[in-house]
Amino acid sequence: MSEEAARQELASLAQLVAAKGLTDGNSGNLSIRLNEEQVLITPAGVPKFLVTPECLVKIHLPDGNPLAGQGKPSSERHVHLACYRRRSNIWGIVHSHPVYSTTLAASGMTVPTNLTAESAILLRRVPLVPYIRPGTLELAEAVAAEVHDTNAVLLANHGVVCLGKTLKEAYCLLETLEFTAKIAFNLQLLGRQNPLSARQVQELAGAYQFIG
Ligand SMILES: [Zn+2]
Repeated sequence: MSEEAARQELASLAQLVAAKGLTDGNSGNLSIRLNEEQVLITPAGVPKFLVTPECLVKIHLPDGNPLAGQGKPSSERHVHLACYRRRSNIWGIVHSHPVYSTTLAASGMTVPTNLTAESAILLRRVPLVPYIRPGTLELAEAVAAEVHDTNAVLLANHGVVCLGKTLKEAYCLLETLEFTAKIAFNLQLLGRQNPLSARQVQELAGAYQFIG
């Protein structure tokens, strides 16, 4: 993908995160890995509905330093960079604070993946990273330590991180994660649930290809 196309896609998906109510205020950040050395990321302090292709910041993947762009790179860039370093097949990442996933993460629960067939196939395992102060290298290391076999992670008392082979894929996983969290929340209110059995989940896992 050309840098120009990556900038367009990043800006339009950042605006979509805002339009769909998948984060709040200035929070959340999205990135695309351009190549082995360069990552484009949303700037700090800009609401996602105002992100444009021109305002993105280019950072150096090996050391995290800004390479180009007028704004300050997102404070959560360390999480993005640590995940790209850990997973060579990941080219797009979204971090945001969607209501239902964050509600579960603030209650000490995670998003169950045995409530619907789609979540069993796409989410598989959603680890809950214990609370660590946002913007720190420690948080980045804790998230990177969990993504060896999953593309969706909850951050306790904070939000979520979704990864993808493309940014579009990471964005779609964010929708699936939040959708599943909402169902889990509704089932808690209902006071009853009828999850898939371990055998049914295993069958789904065998029938569909995992994240690779
Ligand atoms: Zn955050």
